Amino acid sequence: MTHPHVSVFLNINKDYHSLQKIQEKKLRFLANYAYNKVAYYNKVFKIYDIKPNNIRTLGDIKKIPILNRMDIVKNYPQSIVSKSFNVKKCYERSTSGSSGIPITVAFDNFSVRNYELIGIRSLLLTGHKILDRIAYIWYPPFRKDRLYERLGILKKTYISVDNTPELILEKLAKINYKTIYCYPSVLFEIAKKLDNSNYKIKPKRIITQGELLTKEVRKFIEEKFDCKTFNHYGTTEFYIIASECRYHDGMHVNMDNLIVEIKNKDGNTSIDYGKGSFIITGLTNKAMPLIRYEIGDIGSIKNEKCNCGLEFPKIDLFEGRNDDFIQLPSGKIIGPRKIATNLYKIFTFTNKIEKYRIVQNMTEKFIVDIVPGNKFNENVITEFKNILQKVLEEPVTIKIKIKKNIPKNLHGKLRSIESKVKIRE
Ligand SMILES: [Zn+2]
Repeated sequence: MTHPHVSVFLNINKDYHSLQKIQEKKLRFLANYAYNKVAYYNKVFKIYDIKPNNIRTLGDIKKIPILNRMDIVKNYPQSIVSKSFNVKKCYERSTSGSSGIPITVAFDNFSVRNYELIGIRSLLLTGHKILDRIAYIWYPPFRKDRLYERLGILKKTYISVDNTPELILEKLAKINYKTIYCYPSVLFEIAKKLDNSNYKIKPKRIITQGELLTKEVRKFIEEKFDCKTFNHYGTTEFYIIASECRYHDGMHVNMDNLIVEIKNKDGNTSIDYGKGSFIITGLTNKAMPLIRYEIGDIGSIKNEKCNCGLEFPKIDLFEGRNDDFIQLPSGKIIGPRKIATNLYKIFTFTNKIEKYRIVQNMTEKFIVDIVPGNKFNENVITEFKNILQKVLEEPVTIKIKIKKNIPKNLHGKLRSIESKVKIRE
């Protein structure tokens, strides 16, 4: 039998039907395992009268209720970590809390390795070669180099996002790399400084992850760096969920390691077609199985042939995370992409504003922090207010504060739109 770690690289050649068989086999194991070893699932299965042996096919997954963030918060670690694992010996990762209450997930060593290999697979699918170096612009602390990295395979140079864009450019200029890996917002800040710098920055490709990549930012980054961007969808809970191939038309779901369902407005779910909220099942982590976890991201899934030959279905992320959405006094909901698109077009590209953050404190009250750019003047405040008012289309108050800087969150991300108002049904 092929070692599961090797299978990661063989699975890219499998057809959809065979991949589904892999999913079903792993799902059957997981349902039994969770029932026997995880107190939370044991209880849930009993309440819903689910017999683990009745979870046989992908369609059967619908019998298991959806897991939400609060279920994890309330049950971590005692009831949701497997009895067979000591949480202190697991690898724990916590979400930044930018999308609600932070949660922690415990991973067993096998699943960490497996997720890392999936990450490597996604990287190689971009055309990155195993002996090439990656400039990894991310938040610290950085993990220790793995043995293969010390041997010169998939070498990484870490650069902290806490550095100024100028310093990041200086560091990039000193190393010989092929791929830049970074958050869109940080990359955008760096890209803006490129024209005025004397450094020769010539990546072969860019990989973005961790934030919404808007069309406008993508175009700007690709023009400035003169290369293509590959967007990856990664989360703390499941590492890399999906990634773009060279055709850049949606992100292929790592379906041999995960089941991704989409829940539409009526609450129905589908694994191959539709729009809605992502429901994700991790098929590898035994230490803390997450079955049908509603992660809070919305988008679409489609299962059609891609020219690259990979038969993994493709997803697109919409507007950002659920709680980036702004609900107006009338009940109308506006996504962050619409707001970002209008503001980017007018300001950020012209250097009038360096950074901004819009916070909806109450339904009709918005506070905006602005860090002035080098073309800033007093009129910009009025202009900003007018544009925001126009996008929101409803009578709201907008208060603007000029700031020297806007701090990034724990994971080094700049969240430019944030709502503290819970969305009403
Ligand atoms: Zn493809």
